[in-house]
Amino acid sequence: MSVVPVYKRILLKLSGEALMGDDTHGINRAVIERIVREIGEVVGLGIQVAVVIGGGNIFRGVAPAAEGMDRATADYMGMLATVMNAMALQDAMKRSGLDCRVQSALNLEQVAEPFIRGKALRYLEDGKVVIFAAGTGNPFFTTDTAAALRGVEMDAEVVIKATKVDGVYTADPKLDPAAVRYQKVSFDEAISKNFKVMDATALTLCRDQRLPIIVFSIFKHDALKRVVMGEDEGTLVHCY
Ligand code: UDP
Repeated sequence: MSVVPVYKRILLKLSGEALMGDDTHGINRAVIERIVREIGEVVGLGIQVAVVIGGGNIFRGVAPAAEGMDRATADYMGMLATVMNAMALQDAMKRSGLDCRVQSALNLEQVAEPFIRGKALRYLEDGKVVIFAAGTGNPFFTTDTAAALRGVEMDAEVVIKATKVDGVYTADPKLDPAAVRYQKVSFDEAISKNFKVMDATALTLCRDQRLPIIVFSIFKHDALKRVVMGEDEGTLVHCY
């Protein structure tokens, strides 16, 4: 087992749902504080952390609440939801003593800096956590694709995707007790078998840029730390 982290720079994708815990919507304070604590531990190991935050706990362009709406308008609302989550996350990070910045892909200068790649890279080098809000800034995309995009732009070594399950399984573990977790799957397998690790746009971007993805459970205590230490946690989606 490694005693030093296997990564220097990671891109952590947190869905909006990760922030709501067992609630039906919104942000659960205890959950966000625990997530921030775990991110803080990883920062404490000397790892540079960039975060892409989703908005599904508040609004999604494809949610029933958006039915009948103009899709692009609904997607902009979804992107604004991610900004609210980013602000909540930044607030929790600040209160726990973590130095962090929010950069938004939509111009909202009263509440967040605009996305500027060079500045974000400098923040990371200075040990600050950078939270990317408003996805890619474009409708018809997801924050998974934003994670792939920012991961590549930030030269991250891995995209670590926080989900509710601790990896990719041979079958739905809730329905099939014989389901086993894959330690590794190739991008091609994840795409062709439609494993729903991330959407296809995000997966192909990561595959083409040779940026691996690790899927892990954010609800499993200390799992993020185990991932960055290279322990057998979650599922690695890789190029070979
Ligand atoms: N969204 C978008 N473009 C992006 C990223 C997000 O239009 O680049 C919108 C889209 O409507 C999406 C919503 O923002 O449904 C929230 O993002 P997402 O569903 O990815 O959040 P998560 O599932 O991670 O909470």
